[in-house]
This record gives sequence, structure tokens and C-alpha cells, in this order.
Amino acid sequence: MKEKLTIALVAHDNRKADMVAWARYNAKYLSQHHIVCTGTTGSLIRKAFEDDGVQADISCMNSGPMGGDAEIAAMVVRHEIDLAVFLIDDLNAQPHEADIQMLLRQCRLHNIPIACNRASADLMISSTLWTDPSYVPAPQSYVKFERNPSQQ
Ligand code: PGA
Repeated sequence: MKEKLTIALVAHDNRKADMVAWARYNAKYLSQHHIVCTGTTGSLIRKAFEDDGVQADISCMNSGPMGGDAEIAAMVVRHEIDLAVFLIDDLNAQPHEADIQMLLRQCRLHNIPIACNRASADLMISSTLWTDPSYVPAPQSYVKFERNPSQQ
């Protein structure tokens, strides 16, 4: 696998404090990779890293509600994203629900690892598979399932 990953970081407003805390906790790791964020998430992480004296390569897309999730989803389709961390506000409706579902669906469809909580994100970034040259993700199968009539 690649040495320098492109990691997408997106957090809804009520999850931004969590995202900044997670990014600070993993600053050493994140500073070794290319980070792509939705607009506001990226500006908050950039500010936190500046305050902490952490140099990081952070690109910001549009703000999520203005199409940032859609831009990142398009990068997923082009296989320009290796891993996504998406901290979703599961307690409040979002105006850009369609774009959120699109980003989630494209990650699932293109077999791109996506962590939707901090524990998953910690486990994903610490996987030894990232540096295992023999590891190639198995392709996904969408083979039609023929149900046995006796199982219905
Ligand atoms: P934001 O977008 O980082 O620009 O707030 C995140 C989102 O709401 O999807």
C-alpha cells in the first residue's frame, strides 16, 4: 500500500469538537499524510495544528452544506481518497442529508474504509495492513442471491 495516504476528515457541527480532539490526539500520524476536509472542519483542524505547532498538509473543499461532502464523494469515486473519517451528528437532521448519504454510499461502493466514530477511526489508522505490501483489499461481490424456496 501507499506510504502517504490521502485521508478525508469531515465532522458535522456538533461533532467538530470531537474531530478536533481526535485530530490533535493523532496529529503526529496525520501530519505524515495528505488531509482533505470539508471547509469548516478543515479550518478548525488547521487552526488547532497551528496552535500546537504541527505542520500538516490540509486541503479544504467547500463547506459541507455547500457541496464539500459531494466534492469528497467525487474524490472517492476517482479513488483519490484512501480513508475517510466522518463524524456524523446522529441526533440532529442535516440540510445536506442527500450529500451525506452519497459520501457514505460511495465509500461503501468503492470499498474505501470509512470510520464514523472515534474508536473506528483509531483502529483504522493503527492497522498494520496499511504497510503490508502483500495486502490487497478483496474486491466486493454483488452476486444475485437466489433464495431457496424452503427458506422463505
Ligand atoms: P463543514 O462540513 O466542515 O464545512 O462544516 C461538514 C458537513 O456538514 O458535512
